[in-house]
Formats: sequence, C-alpha cells, structure tokens
Amino acid sequence: MKSTYKTKAREMIIAYLKEHPEQRLTAREIYEAVCSGNVEVDRTTVYRNLDRLCESGELMRFKEPNRDAWYYQYSAEHEHCDRHMHAQCSLCGKIFHLDKPFVDVFAAEMLKEYGLEIDPSETIILGKCSKCRRIKKR
Ligand SMILES: [Zn+2]
Ligand SMILES: [Zn+2]
Repeated sequence: MKSTYKTKAREMIIAYLKEHPEQRLTAREIYEAVCSGNVEVDRTTVYRNLDRLCESGELMRFKEPNRDAWYYQYSAEHEHCDRHMHAQCSLCGKIFHLDKPFVDVFAAEMLKEYGLEIDPSETIILGKCSKCRRIKKR
C-alpha cells in the first residue's frame, strides 16, 4: 500500500506542474495545490518527491535571486537540464533551456579567460523575455 501512496503523490506533483508550465511554483505552493484535491498527503512526502524528481531530471529547480526560495518546473522535453545552463525572465518567470552549441563555447571561453568553470545546473541568466519587453513598451 505504501508504494501506491508514494506514486500518487509523485503523479499529482507532475500533473500539477504540467498544467502550469510557465509559472514559478515553490514547494509550498505545490504542496498546497496537491492537498487541495482532498487527498491526504503529508508535506514531507511532497518535499521528498520534489527532491527525487529533481535528481532524476524530471523537474528543474531554480533559486530566486533575491529570495530564499526554490522554484520548481516540469522538464520532460529537457532531459539533460543538469547539463545545460538556463535563462529566466525576471518578470514572468519563463525558463529558457540554453542547450545550443554557442553556450558551450561561452562556457569554454569563461574557463579560458577567467579560469571559472561554470556549473550548468546552478547557473541561471536573468533577463526580460520578448513578450515582457513588448508589454512594457505599450
Ligand atoms: Zn533545461
Ligand atoms: Zn517574460
């Protein structure tokens, strides 16, 4: 019985994150959303599942620059999120997967010029996406 219960929490987390692909969701928000479906899930189970899903690469975790909070996002099409850098729109929270070759060139140049080895899974470049820039101009 125990394993079905665990699987369920995992599935609910994934389902919820799939429904909100471009939202910044904290562990607490995910926990509250999962619980609102009248299911009894304890907080530790949800948090443990989030950790595990991040380790397996199904979820991505981002740290908000000015706040001490992690944000989670589903990343099915991006199986190697631990291997590339990401960029994030600081206004709407949209995530960009920087899996293009020029990013590797950038990382190699960083190492050469500054002796800094970039840790891809920890690196997020912040900016404003085209959509948010358009809204601002109006
Ligand atoms: Zn990615
Ligand atoms: Zn944006």
